[in-house]
Amino acid sequence: YRAKQRRNTFVFFEAEMTRQSGERLHLVSLLRRAVPRPHETFGVLYQPQVRLEDGVRTGSEALLRWTLPDRGPVPPDLFIPLAEETGLIVPLGEWVLAQACAHGAAWSPGAALSVAVNVSALQFARTDFAATVRCWLERSGLDPARLELELTERVVLDDVGRSAARMAELRALGVRLALDDFGTGYSSLSCLSRLPLDTLKVDRSFVRGVHADAASGAVVRAIVGLARSFGLRTVAEGIETPEEYRALRDLGCETGQGYLLGLPEAPAAGEGAGPSGARGRRCSSGPGNGPG
Ligand code: C2E
Ligand code: MG
Ligand code: MG
Ligand code: MG
Repeated sequence: YRAKQRRNTFVFFEAEMTRQSGERLHLVSLLRRAVPRPHETFGVLYQPQVRLEDGVRTGSEALLRWTLPDRGPVPPDLFIPLAEETGLIVPLGEWVLAQACAHGAAWSPGAALSVAVNVSALQFARTDFAATVRCWLERSGLDPARLELELTERVVLDDVGRSAARMAELRALGVRLALDDFGTGYSSLSCLSRLPLDTLKVDRSFVRGVHADAASGAVVRAIVGLARSFGLRTVAEGIETPEEYRALRDLGCETGQGYLLGLPEAPAAGEGAGPSGARGRRCSSGPGNGPG
């Protein structure tokens, strides 16, 4: 009977797939059921970041994955926006943070490998966000200097004054802050100068074909120049070919990530969080803590 029930669920799901809104609703209900038990269907993969000059690994970016038993992996670009619309990204993002801190702390403690975590607008807007980050740093023992939080322009530009204050709180913990997908949003130079940042991540749309396309080359050159004048580090995203790698290195980009340098990979067995490490515990005060 159980097998039959599962089959029916699957058939129902496939039928719903034919309608956009139906798929959305169904995925949302699956998400609601999955988020309270993240270890069952979610996982965090780590994509290497490498210094372009000599190829030495500097750290990695934590990337969330969701795998449904009946359907396989659900693309992040599909489920993360749903988690953001429903507010589920707040507990889910906290789980990723907890996992990344635990895994990061387990990586050769002597080596200064960094771990980057993506932060959504709803997480960043919470008045207890910095306290949540501090709590997971303390529980994991991760050196704060090794944690980098990735914010997007959409997250910080909504209210630059308030964002700068929230970012200063985070910076005071000793963590680093990166602006993700840089160049695709609407940052003005004056905004950039007001934000306490450490890193600009060059969006992969400028990395694609950078060796051959003069316009992409000019954009990367401008971003690198901007980063230098503000004292920021640059990370190029989505490097797929040796030609792109060489062009970015020669343009002065410091670090990079991409399929050429390493796929997102599972943490080594027995490393960090494990099945029980961060299970069922939250540092944040739970729902109801609105933007502040
Ligand atoms: P992102 O933060 O810009 O992450 C980089 C994305 O580029 C990842 O996609 C990664 O797998 C992909 N990528 C890496 N190297 C290459 C490459 O060489 N070529 C190409 N074409 N793509 C490459 P992914 O994992 O599908 O994640 C998509 C987006 O979902 C992320 O973009 C990020 O905005 C969001 N995301 C992922 N994990 C989390 C999370 O834990 N929390 C939040 N809030 N957002 C997340
Ligand atoms: Mg990112
Ligand atoms: Mg990005
Ligand atoms: Mg992206």
